[in-house]
Amino acid sequence: MLAVVRCLEAWRHFLEGTTTRFEIWTDHNNLEYFMKAQKLNRRQVRWALYLSRFNFMLKHIPGSKMGKADSLSRRPDWKVGVERDNEDKTLVKPEWLEVRRTERVEIIVEGVDLLEKVRKSKVKDDEVVKAVEEMKQAEVKMLRDKEWREEDGIMYKEGKVYVSKDDILRAEIIRLHHNTLVGGHRGQWKTVELITQNFWWPGVTKEMKQYVEGCNSCQRNKNHTEQLAGKLMPNSIPEKPWTHISADFITKLPIAQGYDSILVVVDRLTKMVHFIPTTEKTSAEGLARLFRDNV
Ligand SMILES: [Zn+2]
Repeated sequence: MLAVVRCLEAWRHFLEGTTTRFEIWTDHNNLEYFMKAQKLNRRQVRWALYLSRFNFMLKHIPGSKMGKADSLSRRPDWKVGVERDNEDKTLVKPEWLEVRRTERVEIIVEGVDLLEKVRKSKVKDDEVVKAVEEMKQAEVKMLRDKEWREEDGIMYKEGKVYVSKDDILRAEIIRLHHNTLVGGHRGQWKTVELITQNFWWPGVTKEMKQYVEGCNSCQRNKNHTEQLAGKLMPNSIPEKPWTHISADFITKLPIAQGYDSILVVVDRLTKMVHFIPTTEKTSAEGLARLFRDNV
């Protein structure tokens, strides 16, 4: 279809606005698909718009009968050197991805060149030493299908900068990815994601978790999803005695002089108390009477 559009563009001055219908010969049978009503994508709509300016007919001719066209467009001497240039092409090459990743490592966080620090770190893990030895013996820069790679004195494990067991350095990397503008005090998972874009070491996730949990500002600015408890509201202090009282029953006492309970009435201001003997079966009316008579 693109070929048709390109040809029409090239010969527009001959073909546009002709009164006689011209023919387009193509060996591409699928093109007839476009001649029927279809749901078109955006590019096809653009093409259809362009094609509508021409008075033409698509005619399918099998490739075997297109001798003239083929002899013009497929001259054997044009093929020399480019016969295979269109084979095995991937749209996104793996090297590009690799490059992107190493480029990002070069980002200097808050003026600190972390790569330089990793390079200078004297501490080396056994695992790394072993990998380096193996590489030296085999005289290669990669090991085990790119699991280990050495470049500029930095060890990469699966494409990430391997940080040796240098606690100060590891802590600094974490701090730079969390406490800074870049890190922005994000939660542990976001911070781990940020770090592991470029760096890796055994237990990075766990260390990160501990760090974020212990981060002072994170603790203070934590988002609480549950509703805040209301403020404590102390009862106001009464101005006079016996304006505010509390009353309660002490029940289930051994029967003494026909009573088994005590009504306790306390004044909130003076704490003066009335103990009134009564029974458990006292009704509301009885309670009112006791109150009137005793308090
Ligand atoms: Zn924090």
